[in-house]
Amino acid sequence: ISGLEDADDAAERVLTVMRQPVKTESGDVFAAVSVGIAMGTPKYDQPEQILRDADAAMYVAKSQGRARAIVFDESIGRLARDNVDLTEDLRHAIERKELRIAYQPVLRLKHMELIGFEALVRWKHPRRGLLLPGNFISQAEESNLIVAVDRWMLAEACAQLANWQDRGLAGPALQMSVNVSSKEFSRTDFLAEVRDVIEAHALTAAGLRLEITEGTMLERSARTYDVLAAIRALGVSVDVDDFGTGYASLSALNHLVVDGLKIDWSFVTSINAHHGWDIVEAVISLAHKLGLVAIAEGIETAEQLRRLIALGCDFGQGHLFAPGLGPVAAAAF
Ligand code: C2E
Ligand code: MG
Ligand code: MG
Repeated sequence: ISGLEDADDAAERVLTVMRQPVKTESGDVFAAVSVGIAMGTPKYDQPEQILRDADAAMYVAKSQGRARAIVFDESIGRLARDNVDLTEDLRHAIERKELRIAYQPVLRLKHMELIGFEALVRWKHPRRGLLLPGNFISQAEESNLIVAVDRWMLAEACAQLANWQDRGLAGPALQMSVNVSSKEFSRTDFLAEVRDVIEAHALTAAGLRLEITEGTMLERSARTYDVLAAIRALGVSVDVDDFGTGYASLSALNHLVVDGLKIDWSFVTSINAHHGWDIVEAVISLAHKLGLVAIAEGIETAEQLRRLIALGCDFGQGHLFAPGLGPVAAAAF
C-alpha cells in the first residue's frame, strides 16, 4: 500500500466480496463488514496505536450504517478520547451518586387518569452538567456498564415507588416502568434480581413494568424467552419499547412473551404526515389483536391526543402531560 487510494481500493474489494451471501443449509446469510482505516505515519511509534485508531474509525463506520470504510482523522481521534473519558467517568458515577431518575407520568388516555411513571436515567456529570441518556447510553452499552446503570435504576425506582406507597401518595395500582438493556438477558441472575428487588421493597409484582427493545426479542434465544416468561410469571409486565424502529420481529410477538407495545414518539410526532399516522393506527390494532396494550410516547399536542383516543390507544406519555420530573415534582403530579 503506497497511499490512501490503495487502502480505499483494498477496503472496497473486501466490501464487494463480503456483500455476497454465504450459503448455508437454512438459506442465505448476509454478513455486513465495517472497515476502519488508519495510515501509518511517523506520529505512531507502536503498532497498537495504529490499531487503536483503525478501531476508532471502524466504530464510526458501524455507527454510520455498517458495510462501509472510514479513514481515521483527528476528529475521530477526539471523539474516541471523549468516549474513553466518559466511560471512565461513568464507571464511578454510581458510587459517587451522580445518577438521578426523571419520572415521566403515563396516563390512561380515555380517562386521563395517572397509571404510573417511566423511570428515565439522568446523569449529573460533575463537569459536563446534566446529561441525557442520548449522551451516554451507547457508551454504557459498549462497555457493559449499562448493566450496573440498569441495576441501579431498577433498585432506585422501586425504592421510590415503595416510598410513595408508604406515604400514601401512590395506590397499589400505580406502576413503575423501567428500561432494561438486552445485555441483562445474558446474565443468569437477572430474574433473581427482579424478584429480590420486589421483595426488598414489599412491592406487588404488578407494580413493575419492564421495557425491553426489539433487539432483545430478536435474540430469540430460548433463554431470553424463558427469562421473559419467568418474569411475567412473577406478575411483572413487559413492554416492547420504540416498537417498529428497530428490527421489528413479528415472529417474536408470536411467542406471546410481552404485555404491551410502546409506539415510538417519531411516529406520533409525524402524526400529520401520512405514514406516521398509518403506522400508529396499525401498531394499535396489532397490539389489540394480540391481546396487548398500546402505549404512545411523545404526545405533544391535543390533536395527537384526540386522534390516539379515537383509535383506542390505551396509555400514553408526553410533554402534553409532563416531561420527566424529579421525585418531588412527580409526587406532586
Ligand atoms: P424511551 O424509553 O423511549 O424514553 C422516551 C424518551 O422520549 C425519553 O427520552 C423522554 O424524555 C422522551 N420524551 C417523552 N415525551 C416526549 C415528548 O412529548 N416529546 C419529545 N420530543 N420527547 C419526549 P430520554 O429520557 O432522553 O431517554 C432516551 C432513551 O434512553 C429512552 O428512550 C431509553 O431507550 C433510554 N433510557 C433511558 N433511561 C434508561 C435506563 O435506565 N436504562 C436503559 N437501558 N435505557 C434507558
Ligand atoms: Mg422506555
Ligand atoms: Mg421509546
